[in-house]
Amino acid sequence: MKLEKIRNDFPILNEVVHNKPLVYLDNAATTQKPQMVIDAISNYYTHTNSNIHRSAHTLASRATELYETARDTIQQFIHAAHRHEINFTRGTTEGINLVMYSWAMHNIQEGDEIIISALEHHSNLVPWQQLCKQKKAKLLIIPINEHGELMMDIYYKQLSTKTKLVACVHTSNSLGTINPVKDIIEKAHLFGAKVLIDGAQAVAHAPIDVQALDADFFVFSGHKLFGPTGIGVLYAKEEILNEMLPFHFGGEMIKTVTYEETTFNTLPYKFEAGTPNIAGVIGLGAAIQYVQSIGFDFIQEQEKTLLAYATEKIKQINGLRIIGTAANKASVISFVINGIHTYDVGVLLDQMGIAIRTGHHCCMPLMDSLSLEGGTCRASFSFYNSQEEVDILIAGLERVVRMI
Ligand code: PMP
Repeated sequence: MKLEKIRNDFPILNEVVHNKPLVYLDNAATTQKPQMVIDAISNYYTHTNSNIHRSAHTLASRATELYETARDTIQQFIHAAHRHEINFTRGTTEGINLVMYSWAMHNIQEGDEIIISALEHHSNLVPWQQLCKQKKAKLLIIPINEHGELMMDIYYKQLSTKTKLVACVHTSNSLGTINPVKDIIEKAHLFGAKVLIDGAQAVAHAPIDVQALDADFFVFSGHKLFGPTGIGVLYAKEEILNEMLPFHFGGEMIKTVTYEETTFNTLPYKFEAGTPNIAGVIGLGAAIQYVQSIGFDFIQEQEKTLLAYATEKIKQINGLRIIGTAANKASVISFVINGIHTYDVGVLLDQMGIAIRTGHHCCMPLMDSLSLEGGTCRASFSFYNSQEEVDILIAGLERVVRMI
């Protein structure tokens, strides 16, 4: 059976927690790593470890080849037009900060407007809030309806010639809402605004085509895509990257240096100062190859089935309320239970070997607006999760409810 075989690819799924088999339902926080990714990293350190780009010796050229091949893999994965539009970062957070410091800092002026949504993770909120304060620009928020869907009619009205940037999450980590990003981008472009898409929660669940989307910036993290932590990608259109100043100064990002002047390297090296996370890049390349070997048809079918099955069962639990019921939703279920703090639900489930996330999910303003002081409990599924694991979660929640 395919699922059994897939589960065997992830050694951590055999872990035991509090004498119970691990049921890992915290995939929106980070995904587990298949053996292929672990091997790619281990093989790199065992056989290839060397610094890239600057040496004549064999190991260095092997390491450079592995690193640059991973860039090609990522380019194809998100359908970027050019390999040099793929810039390696530490993750989504760093990618957004890079855009803030290297593009927005020089392109946003007093009186300009930036639009974000009510569903943003702090990493796509705080940088823009801080920039707006510094530049005396205005931050506008696209509100959500009672299902957790963006109110697009209000967004259309918020757009104007003052809008310089729209920074929006593709898929909400807290409610699971999948936003109509193509429409968001199209409408913003009518006013000449640039658009940044936070793809952190999107890349593991559906194919991404940055050219079809016409995204100006697209960011994601490797660790939510079955790859290592500490590595991520900033995609941006070539012409925008060419206009941007470097984010970090130092080695590798230069062409020539004198005591008086520096000329900067070509793309993508202009944005990759210093020794990068070579093993991380190679691991991310392997993770994408793994995802491609499974295929998005299977991934989407499995996640859709799990979401529908879990939603139906979880709804029947006494006193439990699902938060976020968007029509177009990723495999995430946020919920609260009357009479018990979200954190306590998390601790009790952990005793049963079940890992879910509780709290504000780095979306404090959203939780405040929903009057959810303790945030929510969030179960998030990946394609390697099984219906049996959903049943264990449901049985666990029923036990929790009986304890209240
Ligand atoms: N945006 C979203 C939607 C996320 O879910 C996350 C991680 N929870 C981030 C941004 C930040 O990603 P990272 O911590 O990997 O930089």
